[in-house]
Amino acid sequence: MRILVTGGAGFIGSHFVRQTVQNNYPELAGAEVTVVDKLTYAGRRENLSTVSGSPGLRFIEGDICDTQLMSEAMRGMDLVVHFAAESHVDRSIAGAEEFVRTNVLGTQSLLTAASNTGVGKFVHVSTDEVYGSLDAEGKPWTEEEPLAPNSPYAASKASADLMVLAFHRTHGLPVCLTRGSNTYGPYQYPEKIVPLFVSRLLAGKKVPLYGDGENVRDWLHVDDHCRGIALVAAGGESGEIYNVGGGTELTNRALTERLLELLGRDSSMVERVADRKGHDRRYAMDITKISDTLGYRPAVEFDEGLAATVDWYRRHHSLWEDAA
Ligand code: NAD
Repeated sequence: MRILVTGGAGFIGSHFVRQTVQNNYPELAGAEVTVVDKLTYAGRRENLSTVSGSPGLRFIEGDICDTQLMSEAMRGMDLVVHFAAESHVDRSIAGAEEFVRTNVLGTQSLLTAASNTGVGKFVHVSTDEVYGSLDAEGKPWTEEEPLAPNSPYAASKASADLMVLAFHRTHGLPVCLTRGSNTYGPYQYPEKIVPLFVSRLLAGKKVPLYGDGENVRDWLHVDDHCRGIALVAAGGESGEIYNVGGGTELTNRALTERLLELLGRDSSMVERVADRKGHDRRYAMDITKISDTLGYRPAVEFDEGLAATVDWYRRHHSLWEDAA
């Protein structure tokens, strides 16, 4: 099997690549992997250094918006797994243009290349943020939930999702969509809450907690997220959407307390800052579909996964020092 992975030098994409080339997904065993990545601030070749000598692993530095390059890269591919994106909500609030370019036009460019070259399957990696925001009593989202994105990031991902489904319906492109929840683990650029707070606390700096700290996220370990994607890549039905959740709902305040404890710090290290504009209150995922049809279960217990993540940042602190 030949797989093209876009964004394979970023946080989640690089985990998927490392796991795939180490044959940790029985469904994808023996696959040859080609990574396409533009190496933006969020992507690093070093994220693949532990597998860099693996047979069958190739790296192309390139932009997914380059349809000609993508068509060449896709020739002969059985599977495309599309992670590449601008992924940070705060950056999309500061400026949305790059989000539309990469997430919408980039996805459209890949879909065009995939249609032209007759790729076997196209897995689009999306997010729970496309569903909008829930209140405390709201029922976890199923895949039937209407799209109601709030941030420019979420709107760009929802637009891409619709384009993926449009290429399926219009051109018959075999596609699957995954919608993952808030993901944590090693190798994440320190701008989102877990790696930012860990890196700052390791550097002896205070951490900025938005608003009242009561915003709730459904936490998912990167290993579970990628296993869910591998299951969908191997067994997902064409044209279908699969939620991938972790099942641990936590407020940002509770998450911050756990991080402080793991790093031996107290609440004096927390600085309350003005809330993020349009901050979604709560995300929660119903994962019945992927569990019943593909046997997915989150396997990483949250406290263990978080402690291991903190440990990883402690051991790799020099890599992230400047960004913290
Ligand atoms: P990331 O920001 O860590 O990595 C994104 C990667 O894409 C980087 O390596 C970057 O260099 C590459 N990239 C960006 N623009 C590109 C372009 N134009 N051409 C080629 N490569 C480009 O992101 P992540 O957190 O690993 O997220 C991966 C995917 O998963 C994204 O599509 C994101 O929307 C989705 N997702 C993320 C989360 C999360 O919590 N991080 C949750 C659900 C879904």
